[in-house]
Amino acid sequence: MKILGHEESKEIIRLYLDKNYSSYSFLFEGKDCIGKKLIALKTARAFLCEKNYGFGCGECNDCRLVNNTISNIYEKTDLTPHPDLKIISPENNKEIKINQIREAIQFLKLKSKKGKVIIIEKAEKMNTEASNAVLKTLEEPPENSLIILTTSNQNAILPTILSRCKKIKFKPLKKEDIFNLLKLKGVEENKAKILTALSEGSMCLPAKIMENENLFKYAKDLYNLLAINSLHPESIINLAELMDKFENQEIFTVFDILERILHRKTLKGEISPELYEDFLTESRIMKKAIEKGVKKKLAIEGLYFNLKT
Ligand SMILES: [Zn+2]
Repeated sequence: MKILGHEESKEIIRLYLDKNYSSYSFLFEGKDCIGKKLIALKTARAFLCEKNYGFGCGECNDCRLVNNTISNIYEKTDLTPHPDLKIISPENNKEIKINQIREAIQFLKLKSKKGKVIIIEKAEKMNTEASNAVLKTLEEPPENSLIILTTSNQNAILPTILSRCKKIKFKPLKKEDIFNLLKLKGVEENKAKILTALSEGSMCLPAKIMENENLFKYAKDLYNLLAINSLHPESIINLAELMDKFENQEIFTVFDILERILHRKTLKGEISPELYEDFLTESRIMKKAIEKGVKKKLAIEGLYFNLKT
C-alpha cells in the first residue's frame, strides 16, 4: 500500500514523533476516502517501529506486524496483526458506542514493549457517552500511547476533544494522485480520466464505481434523459424500474455521480444553472422520500417529471 500525496501532513506528523513525547494524541481531519486511515496506520507503524525510523523501517518485527494489520484491512488477508494496535470504527457505520471506547481504553492501559495505539476512525460518530470517555483519556493519556482520531467533520466533535489533540489537516487528493492511484489499481487510461474528473479530490465515488460499473452507467442514462429537451416518459419508467432493485445507498450513489456530471456540464455551459439548482433541490427531496420508505421507482420518476415539466 503506497501513500500518495499528503507530503506536508506526513512531514508534520514525523516532526511530532521526533519529539519523543511519552504519549501522543492526533486528530486527522479531511474529506472521506483520501487516505487518512492509511496514514494513521503508518503513523502507528512509525510509533511502534523498533528503530523509530521514518514511517517505520519496514524490517523490524513491529513494522512487519503492522504491515500485516494494513494488509488485513486493505487486501482482506488473514495475517497475524500487531497486538498493540487497535482500530475502532462506528458499528454498522452508524455510531461509536461507549462499550467500544471502554474496551479501547482498557487496551491502552495494558503493558507492552513499545506502547499501545488506538485509531478511532470517523470519530464524529462517537455518541455523547463515548465522546466523554475519550475526553477523559485525552486529559490523562496512559504512558507510551498513541491515540489518533480521524474525521471528515470536526464540527461534530466536542471542542474539548479537539483542543486536546494535535490537529493534522489533510487536503483533498490532487488530480494526478487520484489518476495514478487508479492506474495502480489497474484501471485503464480513459476510464481513469473519467473517474478522476468525477472524484473531487476523494476516492469515495471512484471506488464505488469500480465496485459496481452499473452505478455510473445509470447515472449517465439519467443524465441523457435530463439533458435532452423532449420528454421521454417510457425511458424514465424503464430506467426507474431497473433502479428500483438497487439498495438505497446505491441509488444515492447514482445521484451523487449524476450531480457531479451535471455540475461539470453546467460549468462547461452545456446545461443551464437553473436545471442544476433544481436538480439539487429535487434530489434532496427524493433522498428523503426514499429514506422514509417511498417506493424507489416512484421517487425517481417524481424527480424526473418535476424537473422536466
Ligand atoms: Zn521498524
